[in-house]
Amino acid sequence: MSKSSFLLCLLIGLILVAYIRQLSLTSDNLGDQKSAVEPAEKVEEKEANVVAPVKEFETRITKKPFGIFITPATSPIQPERFSGYHTGVDVEYGDVEEEVAVLAMADGLVEHTGWVSGYGGLVAIRHLIDGKKYLAIYAHLNPARLVAQGKSVTKGEQIGILGQGNTPETDGERKHLHFALYTGSDFNLKGYVETPDQLSVWVDPIIIFSPFQ
Ligand SMILES: [Zn+2]
Repeated sequence: MSKSSFLLCLLIGLILVAYIRQLSLTSDNLGDQKSAVEPAEKVEEKEANVVAPVKEFETRITKKPFGIFITPATSPIQPERFSGYHTGVDVEYGDVEEEVAVLAMADGLVEHTGWVSGYGGLVAIRHLIDGKKYLAIYAHLNPARLVAQGKSVTKGEQIGILGQGNTPETDGERKHLHFALYTGSDFNLKGYVETPDQLSVWVDPIIIFSPFQ
């Protein structure tokens, strides 16, 4: 091989190496930009602010979703003593024998605990979620196992267990969690309201847990 053709080969080789390095740098950059706008990451950030108050939260809302209008004649639960627009969701546990833990959905302050007519054991917690204030109602709990009133709770902390169905623990209701989010700053424990306008100060909890639905 002559000296000039050797130099030519060397030059072509160097150009090739430089070109391949450039290619790999470009594809790395593209990869970074792509992962930075991945929507899955945003979902995780959003959902990190809350946890479900009970396990299998969404799949067990099978009878009374948020906003359903019922009367004793039309209710999916029979017999029925209530009527109006449902201010929360009912999460059904009639098939579960063991204790069902109820958790604080976010950090908050326990404003009220005790036995309330229509609910049995009840915990009401003030939460601040994504800059919005809510009074969360966790109802039909065992009155003997409630978190202390006035306590600061952290997200995921156990605040009680579901009450035994068809006993005074649930004020005679089946074993389920009534879970509601009130946006007013006053104290409001209504389970049903009479008009859509009155319903508008309540939020469907499903929206909080599935923000992109
Ligand atoms: Zn309910």
